[in-house]
Amino acid sequence: MTRLVYMDNHATTPVDPRVLEAMLPYFTEKFGNAASRNHAFGWEAEAAVDRAREQIAKLINAKAKEIIFTSGATESDNLALKGVVEFYKEKGNHIITVATEHKAILDTCKALERKGLVTVTYLPIDECGVVNPDDVRKAITDKTILISIMQANNEIGTIQPLHEIGKIAKEKGILFHSDATQGVGKLPVDVEAMGIDLMSFSAHKIYGPKGIGGLYVRARNPRVRLAAQMDGGGHERGMRSGTLNVTGIVGLGKACELAGELLESESERILRMRERLRQKITSALDEVYLNGHPMQRLPGNLNLSFAFVEGESLLMGLKDIAVSSGSACTSATLEPSYVLRALGVGDDLAHTSIRFGLGRFNTDEEVDYVAERVIREVTRLREMSPLYEMAKEGVDLKNFNWARD
Ligand SMILES: *Cc1c(COP(=O)(O)O)cnc(C)c1O
Repeated sequence: MTRLVYMDNHATTPVDPRVLEAMLPYFTEKFGNAASRNHAFGWEAEAAVDRAREQIAKLINAKAKEIIFTSGATESDNLALKGVVEFYKEKGNHIITVATEHKAILDTCKALERKGLVTVTYLPIDECGVVNPDDVRKAITDKTILISIMQANNEIGTIQPLHEIGKIAKEKGILFHSDATQGVGKLPVDVEAMGIDLMSFSAHKIYGPKGIGGLYVRARNPRVRLAAQMDGGGHERGMRSGTLNVTGIVGLGKACELAGELLESESERILRMRERLRQKITSALDEVYLNGHPMQRLPGNLNLSFAFVEGESLLMGLKDIAVSSGSACTSATLEPSYVLRALGVGDDLAHTSIRFGLGRFNTDEEVDYVAERVIREVTRLREMSPLYEMAKEGVDLKNFNWARD
């Protein structure tokens, strides 16, 4: 009998039943177009959208009108970067970001570079995945128009020092965008205290539906302007045309409200489960390495490398447990994750890394089951590994002369 355990909550999360319940009426009896200004169906939809804007704004200490709805964080990242670059092109053409950002940021930067519209500085990280605010300061030139740095990394969970970076951005009068998709709803977010001017987030990472997200766009001090990337009816203060996804928006709003209510107790519970998982695994196995920062990380994130096992065999052995690996399948080859590479993790250890993403619906019992399965699988694979045996016998593998005699 196989049982499936879901521990990949950085990839996506299930919709919370309370979120689904809030959404349901808006598929059927409350189906109006929020832009229909002249009848009750439209007003009802508009009222629901307004309520969602308030719920989201409250969670991040923004104002309702500063929330722009999009199809998700990928679109929000594109709109923020491309919209700022296009609108502020007379002011400058330089962006500062970090090598470990999500592909939605990195590939957008690459596309802007290819078109010759910007130059981009990709800052390095330290061995825990943290960017140094001094590096941000030093990278600023008189052409810099935007700093884009994520709140928490989706692979290794490392949390960036946004307050300090926001302060530098304010001091220099440069716009500050953050992809906070992994942080919103899980970590405290305050766009005022953090000096954030633009911020991306997505419903499906916080127990809401897929295909809906938002971009916070500061309205005052300074008023941020964006060139729209979608032409049409001029919805969302002209920044993002298209009929609003009312059901999705209601779901996103409810997900934010719940996240706000649960934030403290939930992060405490999830952190305790993560530490239980880490402790069980690391007390039973040696040669296990933690990737990312020991403390400054998302409560639900545990990213471990298991030396002396073959990565693919490990994942095969755990295939009924939904986790992510440190390798990305690109067509024929197995590429180690660029995030682990930027951390300085060697290719061998990157290939044997596993990202455990704990979330709202995981239980202690699942944690114990997963720990037990991982321990058993790693032990089994190591029993077949001559390298592990040699290491245990005290052979220095780094300096071992394989061609000896
Ligand atoms: C998931 C994720 C995205 C993409 O969000 P979508 O809503 O799926 O487009 C962007 N950035 C980060 C950090 C993410 O974790």
